[in-house]
Amino acid sequence: MGGALPHKRVEDAEQIVQHYEKRIFDLEQLIQISKSLNAILDYNELMRAILSVSMGQMKSLGAGAFVKTELDGDEMLLHRSIEGFQVSGDTRYALSSRHPVVDVLAKAPFCFTLPEIRAAMAGASFEPLESLAPWAVTFLRGPHGINGLLFLGEPVTGEDLTVGDREFLSTVGNIAGLAVHNALLYEAATTDRLTKLKQRHIFREMLDREIRVCRSTAKPVSVVMLDLDRFKLVNDEKGHFCGDMVLERTAQILRRSLRKTDLAARYGGEEFVLLLPGIAVATAAQIAERIRRNVEEFRMSFHNEDVGVTISAGVAQFDPEQDTVPDDTVSRCDAALYRAKAAGRNTVRQAG
Ligand code: GH3
Ligand code: MG
Ligand code: MG
Repeated sequence: MGGALPHKRVEDAEQIVQHYEKRIFDLEQLIQISKSLNAILDYNELMRAILSVSMGQMKSLGAGAFVKTELDGDEMLLHRSIEGFQVSGDTRYALSSRHPVVDVLAKAPFCFTLPEIRAAMAGASFEPLESLAPWAVTFLRGPHGINGLLFLGEPVTGEDLTVGDREFLSTVGNIAGLAVHNALLYEAATTDRLTKLKQRHIFREMLDREIRVCRSTAKPVSVVMLDLDRFKLVNDEKGHFCGDMVLERTAQILRRSLRKTDLAARYGGEEFVLLLPGIAVATAAQIAERIRRNVEEFRMSFHNEDVGVTISAGVAQFDPEQDTVPDDTVSRCDAALYRAKAAGRNTVRQAG
């Protein structure tokens, strides 16, 4: 005979259903997280996404990550998008991937609370992680090992870390670790090794994109082309190695002169190009002039000899009236650079 299930069995069944519903929900979330994280190739954007996803999922009041900045690097650095934690200006937040805390914790599959790490470390220091006093810590695991360490602040709910949370967080760590690996691969494949600036083709792609934005919003976009003056002489007189150092330092000056939304690329041997979205030509010329002055003022010592260079620049703003294709803007910019050279070098010229 059929009939109703005894009361207790109904409750059990409801709990089982709830349990599986929660698991299905978590898995759906993980699929979404995986899709969105793997679609981001920009390293900094990816790190921001990893932290906000983790905070959102765990309802945490803060999140941060120590993460490798180079594929073959050893050091993991605290990423600047940390939120909700007190960081000290005097501390260097770096953690070697060979630090004992990494070794000790990497052997276990899940994530950890601060007291658990303390117990596992048996009194040994695990600074600079310890002073941040994270609530939970998990690893970012890439295909060749650990490439980062993700930590969270306490949840708003004030609840303890459950087994489910631990599984969820360590899965997020695995997904995020793969995404970090891909972003580092992309970074290495698109960056010039000597100058650490983007390669020329990335400039071309971004120029196309920004010009499309400009056509639809009338927001200005400018290009600056820079070429070291009489650089062949540096190589001839001081040697190629010294020439390489000059290129490296000049690139550093360029990087430091730009906003996050700008792009600096190595255009060719001793030629650089800047893409300045939202900037009209007069302001771009001021930026170029500041860079020109900084390069001129910069001196370096090579085998006790004082070495310095100057740079010439051409500046152009995309003009829909004159420029049919993006190459037209680049050509006008190049012509302005040529005029700067013809005018005696160490100067900036603006395209008409
Ligand atoms: P100008 O003021 O007319 O630009 O003169 P320049 O000597 O800078 O121009 P030129 O085109 O005659 O020479 C460029 C030199 O840049 C020649 C080349 O050896 C050097 N160069 C290009 N790439 C590199 C590099 O990666 N390292 C070093 N050390 N030199 C490089
Ligand atoms: Mg040159
Ligand atoms: Mg040149």
